[in-house]
Amino acid sequence: MATAEATMNSKSIIEQFQQYVVPNYRRYPIALARGEGSYVWDAEGLRYLDFFPGWGCNLLGHCPEPIVKAVQEQVATLIHVPNTWYTEAQGRWAKLLSERSFGGQAFFCNSGTEANEAAIKLVRLHAPKGRYKIITFEGGFHGRTLGATAATAQPKYHEGLGPLMAGFVYAPFGDLAAVERLIDDETAAIMIEPIQGEGGINIPPEGYLAGLRKLADDHGLLLVFDEVQTGCGRTGQWFAYQHFGVTPDIMTLAKSVCGGIAGGALLTTAEIAPSLRPGMHAATFGGNPIAARAGIAAIEMIENEGLLEHARALSEIFRQRLIDLQGKCELVRDVRVLGLMIGVELSIDGTGVVQGCMDRKLLVNCTHNTVLRLLPAMNLAPQQVHDGCDILAQVLQEQAG
Ligand SMILES: *Cc1c(COP(=O)(O)O)cnc(C)c1O
Repeated sequence: MATAEATMNSKSIIEQFQQYVVPNYRRYPIALARGEGSYVWDAEGLRYLDFFPGWGCNLLGHCPEPIVKAVQEQVATLIHVPNTWYTEAQGRWAKLLSERSFGGQAFFCNSGTEANEAAIKLVRLHAPKGRYKIITFEGGFHGRTLGATAATAQPKYHEGLGPLMAGFVYAPFGDLAAVERLIDDETAAIMIEPIQGEGGINIPPEGYLAGLRKLADDHGLLLVFDEVQTGCGRTGQWFAYQHFGVTPDIMTLAKSVCGGIAGGALLTTAEIAPSLRPGMHAATFGGNPIAARAGIAAIEMIENEGLLEHARALSEIFRQRLIDLQGKCELVRDVRVLGLMIGVELSIDGTGVVQGCMDRKLLVNCTHNTVLRLLPAMNLAPQQVHDGCDILAQVLQEQAG
């Protein structure tokens, strides 16, 4: 495999950013140059074990061979054609997604926020006249464009952006009666992540999603699941909703849907799909041949390598290691695991733990100040789970003093 090593050192790479790149991200002072599986290397050649590869996008690890091969082949054949033409790959990708979910049709875009914008438009276009409100949930996250920002019920993401798009009402996560109270004759849909990711790996209480399905059915609303983070095998099922036996009317995907290449999708039933009629919505690059080939390759790789089962087995190792850690370390308040969505709630701010892990060459994330979040690759080796958990245990013991 080709290895394009960085030609600059970390210090000069960082200086170049400081002069020329908009400072809208807080970045760690590490410049990454290369990745393979669950390892990444920095510009100096130091190796890190990555338990948060690509912010959840690299569910198949870094540079998985089937994705690399499909993309290399496609990029030399046809890079892009607009959606005024047909391509075999886009239709086949839609078929594979449809067959693994609820048998509907797909609209393709390039990111999670775009998939959610499409869902918001589809809800409004499909709803009976006068209905436009969408109920979303506190602690949820739906993306950074303005519609998705309004859908995201977290005040910190709204600061300074007002006036926000109207038509969203916010419910506490996990409280069915509160949702029912918010429904009125202008309500069109309920939109939720089946497991809140950015909000701290929050798993809904027993029966909650089924309760939302029933409320939607009773009141003639659409149920939208944002599976941008939970989807495509992350939880050990193709889609998280399959754990709960509850089917949405609309589902959005992105992050890992193309095995690390940029891509997004909306799936809906064949009855609802025509509401997104010609002229009402589009994405120039949506479903392009490279994304489509990568999307197909990701599904095939998961099946050929038995990765759904492997993810469930890895999940059990993580669960046992982390529950064991909870028993030994007073800083661990709660462990929340569904497949390879893993949250460790701490009694302290997690910044020092993330830094401590980084110092020992393990990459993890912390969300909402106190929740360590791991979104590891499905094709980790069990030994890598143990290696990473050993480091995490060591760092937490140190922090506990
Ligand atoms: C990351 C994420 C998004 C936004 O996806 P982008 O590709 O960054 O636009 C939306 N919803 C959920 C649940 C996410 O985790």
